[in-house]
Amino acid sequence: MINVTDYLENIYKSQDLPNARKRREVLVNEMAKLESNAKDCASCTGLCCTFIANSMHTDPIQTLEIYRDLVEKGLFNEDLVSSLKETVQNNRLDNELSTGKNSTFRRTYTCTFLTKGPEGCGLSRSVKPYGCLGFNPDQIEAQGEGQCSSNIDLLKQREHQFESLEEQVNGLIKEKLALTWNKLPMPVALLEIHEAVKN
Ligand code: SF4
Ligand code: SF4
Repeated sequence: MINVTDYLENIYKSQDLPNARKRREVLVNEMAKLESNAKDCASCTGLCCTFIANSMHTDPIQTLEIYRDLVEKGLFNEDLVSSLKETVQNNRLDNELSTGKNSTFRRTYTCTFLTKGPEGCGLSRSVKPYGCLGFNPDQIEAQGEGQCSSNIDLLKQREHQFESLEEQVNGLIKEKLALTWNKLPMPVALLEIHEAVKN
């Protein structure tokens, strides 16, 4: 059984990789700025996190950071495992379709972490997938009606800053946990990591 907290802290230190919070800072700050201008998700049902629009995939480092946060908070329990499995099964996320052009068709799914009410997402911003943090309302009270978008420039800026280090670290995690994938739908990735750290 791998101690995920120790393992991640060792990786940050040995690879000079800034921690989860630091690598998301630029996106989290922009989100806070939008919120201070009333461009927030408070009155939305979380449309972008449902099967209508969500196909979020995560790589090993993002998945491990989400996993660690949930484990430390005592939230990665049997109930969550069941919910993740249900999401996978209901949306056939373990069966991605190849388009035959070296790429796969991404299935959409309603995220396991989408909660009802004003909180919206059940994950902490310090570990949330980059793509989730970068998708925000463009207008006041946008309510998800086509008035939200990804801040591509900011996502690229973040990626440019950390891409090579994250690529290197993803390789190390894959080797350590014997993972065969680069990115998976988040629920599948979390279940894979959960199994891998037990071995
Ligand atoms: S992690 Fe949070 S923001 Fe991202 S899709 Fe799931 S509920 Fe939505
Ligand atoms: S980003 Fe847009 S669609 Fe997504 S929860 Fe916020 S307001 Fe709703």
